[in-house]
Amino acid sequence: MAATNFSLAQAPRSASGGATGSLPSLGDNSELSAAAERRIGDRIAASIYRDPDYVDDPVLGDYLQSIWQPLLTAARSRGELQAELDERFAWDLFLIRDRSINAFALPGGYFGVHLGLIGSVGSSDEMAAVLAHELSHVTQRHISRLMTQQSRQAPWMIAAMILGVLAANKSPNAASAAIVGGQAVAAQGQLNFSRDMEREADRVGFGVMTDAGFDSRGVTTMFEKLQQAARLNDSGAFPYLRSHPLTTQRIAEAQSRLQLSSAAAIQPSKESQANAGKAHELHAMMAARARILAVPGVDALHAIVAEARHRSASLQALASPASADNIRDAGALYGGVFAAAQLRDFAGARSLLTRLKPLTAEIPRANTAVELLAIEIDLLAGVVPPSASSVDMAKTRSRAEVLTQARSLMAAHRARDVSDRLQTWVAAHPKDAMAWQLLAVAYGQQNQTVRAIRADAESRAAQLDYPAARDRFKAAQSLMRSNPSSADYVEGSIIDTRTRQVELLIKEQALQDKVDR
Ligand SMILES: [Zn+2]
Repeated sequence: MAATNFSLAQAPRSASGGATGSLPSLGDNSELSAAAERRIGDRIAASIYRDPDYVDDPVLGDYLQSIWQPLLTAARSRGELQAELDERFAWDLFLIRDRSINAFALPGGYFGVHLGLIGSVGSSDEMAAVLAHELSHVTQRHISRLMTQQSRQAPWMIAAMILGVLAANKSPNAASAAIVGGQAVAAQGQLNFSRDMEREADRVGFGVMTDAGFDSRGVTTMFEKLQQAARLNDSGAFPYLRSHPLTTQRIAEAQSRLQLSSAAAIQPSKESQANAGKAHELHAMMAARARILAVPGVDALHAIVAEARHRSASLQALASPASADNIRDAGALYGGVFAAAQLRDFAGARSLLTRLKPLTAEIPRANTAVELLAIEIDLLAGVVPPSASSVDMAKTRSRAEVLTQARSLMAAHRARDVSDRLQTWVAAHPKDAMAWQLLAVAYGQQNQTVRAIRADAESRAAQLDYPAARDRFKAAQSLMRSNPSSADYVEGSIIDTRTRQVELLIKEQALQDKVDR
């Protein structure tokens, strides 16, 4: 009976195709249920969280979310993202430290984005083109149809196979290859989307990115870039091309779609052009950041610093925002500051930072990124950021701002301000493992040990490591028993409840493994 946990849902999708062009389902016309697909996705996610190449960089994360959230909103309002999937799936992005150009969709609404992709695309429009395509593979249930063939296997086994494919797709020069799984070769063929699926993801993705306000020319410039890269480079650094072969048909379709849409479109307003320009400086800076976080090696870091010094010396009168010069200079200088800091040349970093600031002063989002960079440099140098004395945590909004300022206040021994703000933050973002971790440190500094252990437990639970979370919740419980004054009644009952919830999750998972095997 419990086997129905992993049984196939009756496919609601019609096989008629018709005007919407949805693909007929494969074989027995069945799909994996959304709940079963999410369970498989959660197992894969739990492994990725533990992989040393998983990167949680709040600054790049905010930048990706500024592209991702409008795409999700557009997919919802176009009716591509059905309510059930919207609710059941994670719709979450993983950043992976890998220099190859790749993005991929996983079961359950998880997506992987390689740092190499962010470092290589030329604009947020190109980034949106790739993400909208991947998003559409999931909203159109392509993944579930591919997995239907494996549906008699246990979730952990399917998860292991997919992790094996991920490991096989890693670039050979990736920092490490700790993602391991079984049967990579066997699964490889089965995880490739069909040509029809690729064309459907192109078509749906195009509509989604256009509705989300991105320049649809991003699709064709991305295609051109990938084609060029494929001609120049055959070293396997482009897994995206392997999984998404650029057929001449796909390119032709993208071009005709673009012509149709631009014939119908009105001229972009001054304001939207200015907005696009604003995103360009930010993109250039985030691309530079991604290239450096991908650990390119000491020589490459020195080259980035040298390039920034060269540009800084030739900065004449300030170029106007959104001009090609300003975009290029902002990217090069941001990269130079960050690279110099990695090389522990903090004086060099600060002098380049002084040159960078005027370039973004008029561009709000880029300016915030530069302010956060200044704080990061101080923290890396082991200095209390000067701004820490005047920070008002209540006014921090974005995740990067909240977490960076929290670290800056910790350096200034304002742990109480940090825990006050982060308590509110995690209430709204309970899956933010890094915030829980910082909260644990802030409580620790205030000698609130039970709360610190609980926050640590929550950070493990947020990364789906339930056994580790249970161990910590239990440690908090035994501390409370041995020292009843260590926590108040409310804290104690929260911990008891959370311990039971996590134990239940562990039991359920063990049960599924048994039944499905
Ligand atoms: Zn695809």
